[in-house]
Amino acid sequence: RPRVLSGMQPSADSLHLGNYIGALRQWVAMQETHETFYFVADRHSITVDFDPAQLRHRTRATAAQFIAAGVDPERSTLFVQSQVPEHSELTWVLGCITGFGEASRMTQFKDKSAKGGAERASVGLFTYPVLMAADILIYQAHQVPVGDDQRQHLELTRDLAERFNQRFGRTFRLPEGFIPPQAARIYDLQDPAAKMSKSGSHPQGIVELLDEPGPLRKKIMRAVTDTGSEIRADKENKPGVTNLLNIHSALSGEPVPELEKRFDGAGYGTFKKELAEVVIDTLAPIRERAKELLADPAELDRLLAAGAARARAQASATLAQVRERIGFLAPP
Ligand code: ATP
Ligand code: MG
Repeated sequence: RPRVLSGMQPSADSLHLGNYIGALRQWVAMQETHETFYFVADRHSITVDFDPAQLRHRTRATAAQFIAAGVDPERSTLFVQSQVPEHSELTWVLGCITGFGEASRMTQFKDKSAKGGAERASVGLFTYPVLMAADILIYQAHQVPVGDDQRQHLELTRDLAERFNQRFGRTFRLPEGFIPPQAARIYDLQDPAAKMSKSGSHPQGIVELLDEPGPLRKKIMRAVTDTGSEIRADKENKPGVTNLLNIHSALSGEPVPELEKRFDGAGYGTFKKELAEVVIDTLAPIRERAKELLADPAELDRLLAAGAARARAQASATLAQVRERIGFLAPP
């Protein structure tokens, strides 16, 4: 079985429908076909402003939502990134074979630091792609699901792996990126030109996995629609309705052309009412299970500790090889 690795940042209390449709659902499915490693990327979250108590809560909440959505801690190696210290040591080593110019070309840093100015951005944000390379390479992953925004970082990961292998001897597997087949992109309900995002969306534009049915229904009924009243997929002219059709189809399994036919002549209101029920039916069991898990943080922490122990077994094997190759003395 090919080994796959993926993570999400604990950058909000709740994940959203885009995370679920675009990633989490695929993670669950891949448990059938892959050896799966999934993690909460808390080290990445401290590259920008954060609050410690909030981070602690969000780390547990993110892990709870993974499990609630169907990630099975028995079948998958599920862990919190910072509980595996080996990533940090490998990051240092990889940082020392990364060119300053090479790192400076990463567009995510340019984008994320543009707001406050590069002067105020942290060095951690700058070296984020090197940490990401370490996350991937330390597990000898065959495949990494990547969205458009992470493609450049995966290229860097492969470059670093090749460079290290050439210079010090074959150590790392070269990971392949792939876009999961059913991973539709989901857009902000209030601004269908922007992707739904934990940190960037309007509060009313994000469908959160932990939303209660009442607020959920309200958000969907108030989603911006387009001029005209036709329920038809047309990304150019009707981005709002198209997004809602895609959400319905992704969750109900009913193809978009059939939805168009079934709602032919119906108003936006009728369609949205049904969509709200589809979303509520999908998310209710996830929300409830996540709440149960969060009500018992000791048990959740125990599950995560077991996952971290499994992850460390693999990570420390790779790291021991790295240390030996580059001439570090074995740790006492
Ligand atoms: P942040 O705003 O903190 O970057 P995010 O909402 O973009 O948060 P990430 O943690 O960056 O979420 O991404 C987690 C996973 O969810 C990734 O695999 C990403 O491709 C996927 N994802 C994020 N947003 C969407 C979306 N709107 N539609 C589909 N997939 C998404
Ligand atoms: Mg993101």
